[in-house]
Amino acid sequence: MKFRDKINTWIFDLDNTLYSADSGIFQQVHKLMGEFIAKNLDMNLSDAKKLQSKYYKQHGTTLRGLMDNHGVEADYFLEEVHKLDYSIVSPNKNLNYELHKLEGRKIIYTNANEKHALDILDRIDLTNFFDEIFDIKMANYIPKPEINPYNQIIELFKIDANSSAMFDDIAKNLVPAKKVGFTPVWVDAGYENFSDDIAASKEYLDFKTRDLSLFLKDVNEGKL
Ligand SMILES: [Mg+2]
Repeated sequence: MKFRDKINTWIFDLDNTLYSADSGIFQQVHKLMGEFIAKNLDMNLSDAKKLQSKYYKQHGTTLRGLMDNHGVEADYFLEEVHKLDYSIVSPNKNLNYELHKLEGRKIIYTNANEKHALDILDRIDLTNFFDEIFDIKMANYIPKPEINPYNQIIELFKIDANSSAMFDDIAKNLVPAKKVGFTPVWVDAGYENFSDDIAASKEYLDFKTRDLSLFLKDVNEGKL
């Protein structure tokens, strides 16, 4: 199959997919989450970080663990941990060029909140480029890779799953993508995410790339 013949809906993860993993934004969120837990659950930072990591692994997001076990209010948490210095994020001209050449609908699917997505899109010169943003609030705080929100997206945006491609840097997020019928593309950001079991996801990763702009260039030129 050729992507441009088959695909009319392009679903992108945001963090570490549409901008670089080494920009430092993720580290900032990580740090703020640890501080949030220490402050709000009244524990020292070292214990807070352990809990943060435990919940991330067990619940898919730290937030989900905090909601389920401590009744933490989602919007408050998301607001606090996204008080970020976005100035370190900058646009990728090659990527934006190829994105603009794609025909069809473009959707952001993120485990973060909409405000974060809008702030990032502003920094990378993609404000108003995407047709839809599906964030963690719209997913009722059920994160990828749980399959429910994938089905929710299909229904909500009236998507033909078999004509959709999904791009994500976290391999396990592409397992449900493949199961619902999306063509999965793994954006290998070149780092080992501590909760991402890449080996277990391998058979679901139909395509992979180390450079999303080069991949989309091949798509746009009809090579893929
Ligand atoms: Mg990501």
